[in-house]
Amino acid sequence: MTLTQLVLASHNAGKLKELQALLGDAVQVRSVGEFSDVEPEETGLSFVENAILKARHAARVSGLPALADDSGLAVDALGGAPGIYSARYAGGGGDVANNAKLLDALRDVPDAERGARFVCALALVRHAEDPLPILCEGLWHGRILHAPRGAQGFGYDPLFWVPECACASAELAPAEKNRLSHRARAMAQLRQRLGLA
Ligand code: IMP
Repeated sequence: MTLTQLVLASHNAGKLKELQALLGDAVQVRSVGEFSDVEPEETGLSFVENAILKARHAARVSGLPALADDSGLAVDALGGAPGIYSARYAGGGGDVANNAKLLDALRDVPDAERGARFVCALALVRHAEDPLPILCEGLWHGRILHAPRGAQGFGYDPLFWVPECACASAELAPAEKNRLSHRARAMAQLRQRLGLA
């Protein structure tokens, strides 16, 4: 598939920059914000469903191929929660409240049952009705700690133990996290699928 322009279904300037760097000069990455301020309702029950929904919306308002991502934390002992609700797990109060709620939910859960993974789903549609989206999924396996550690990153990083580094995700240098993370893995797959790797 040859792409010359791609719309990213996000208003986040950092994500846009990251994607532009990843795809190189041959593809011009534009923000969905150039075309519409309306955010689609995320009614899916899985990361991939919500990524497809957002990509279709961006393709519809722009008339261009579109890429969307959806990410979060899935904890084994909680049936995959907070999952697609990761950003608003505690219903407001941001990262601190979300982390406090997660620790509380796992209060009596022993180490062996505290497995978790960060998930990043990417969906690329060539047009709004594309019946065959390109789907990539990056997983980053770890375990939920009993107390926060580290000051880097965001979200659940202080509670996410990374076995291969023997530290919390929030203790990793940003470049190291960007090499290992769920997002990095999903993006590497996307590069391959687009013939850029
Ligand atoms: P988003 O879809 O990338 O905005 O991520 C949704 C939510 O998942 C964030 O608000 C965080 O709570 C959580 N999350 C996603 N990726 C990460 C990460 O790399 N570290 C920590 N939390 C994350």
